Amino acid sequence: MNKTVSFSKHSVNVFFHILTRCNLTCRHCYINPSQHGNEILPLETIINWLGAFTNTNQKANLIFLGGEPTLHPELGHAIKAANQMGFASVTIDTNGYLFCDILSKITPKDVNFISFSLDGATRKTNDLIRGSGCYDTCVSGIKQAVQLGFNTSLIFTVSNENIHELRLMPSLIKNLGIDRFFIQVIGMRGKSAKPQKDRLQVDRNTWLSLIPAVADQAADLGITVTYPKVFLNDSDVFECAGRVADNYFIFPNGRVYRCPLCEDYPLHSLEFINNRLTKRGKITEHDLFALDIAEGCVMNKLIQPDNLSYDKDGTPEYKVACCLLKEEVPAVKK
Ligand code: SF4
Ligand code: SF4
Repeated sequence: MNKTVSFSKHSVNVFFHILTRCNLTCRHCYINPSQHGNEILPLETIINWLGAFTNTNQKANLIFLGGEPTLHPELGHAIKAANQMGFASVTIDTNGYLFCDILSKITPKDVNFISFSLDGATRKTNDLIRGSGCYDTCVSGIKQAVQLGFNTSLIFTVSNENIHELRLMPSLIKNLGIDRFFIQVIGMRGKSAKPQKDRLQVDRNTWLSLIPAVADQAADLGITVTYPKVFLNDSDVFECAGRVADNYFIFPNGRVYRCPLCEDYPLHSLEFINNRLTKRGKITEHDLFALDIAEGCVMNKLIQPDNLSYDKDGTPEYKVACCLLKEEVPAVKK
């Protein structure tokens, strides 16, 4: 049965961008170095900043990201340090290039998941979005990781450029031996926020008619699937994760956001100053979380209003969910 994952209200999730550098130039890249910095954080700083999340009652889940985190020569050491510090889980999000020979520096016991990004079921579509040669490299990286016994997951960011291949993904994922499938919605930030020739976000009808069906298809093949809810039903209650959940999105310039949709703007509510996690004064994303509007998510209305729709009287036809609200479809056991 599908389960709405209410932003993991009972867990702390730390999304740590340890650098913004990347070997790829994906069309929809959300990294914005003018807002997030260009630094490659030294190992000592990574460990110092991680320390801000270990003196709490609740053990945090840690996700290392970039840019491309495997470009960081000391990622292996950072992972081992995080394990010693007692994080509940450690994940690497990678584009699949697996630089610095990362698979030889860690063991499957050191990470809960290695999460690979692929945005097409075919070489043609994926490489159009992510760059030439990327599909083959990523698939080869997945095969190496699976063969070495790492748990793997796959992230597919849905847009109008690749939705026609979504139905092909479950069998590809199954054949590659991947354990989990994350369907992601493209966010209008970073490069995607720049004027586009064609609309990137899929419309509500397409989303609702296709995404849950593909998730069920994958679950039937024994793969657990997570996808964002995006559009709320009349009976769903809107909640902002910024108010009720504990997520931290850390960037190399020290900015710490609680909401990924805010990341293109200097609205971060926290900041590392001299290695101390410090609250910022008004106005920050925190002030936006407090607003109640008929459309649901405030940031959605501000930065991607094209996915809203109104009736003749100007009443929103539906609410848009928090981007962190996910549906989980467990793998069907046979
Ligand atoms: S792999 Fe990730 S960080 Fe690199 S360009 Fe693509 S989206 Fe951006
Ligand atoms: S995406 Fe919207 S609802 Fe979710 S934390 Fe951000 S502002 Fe709140």
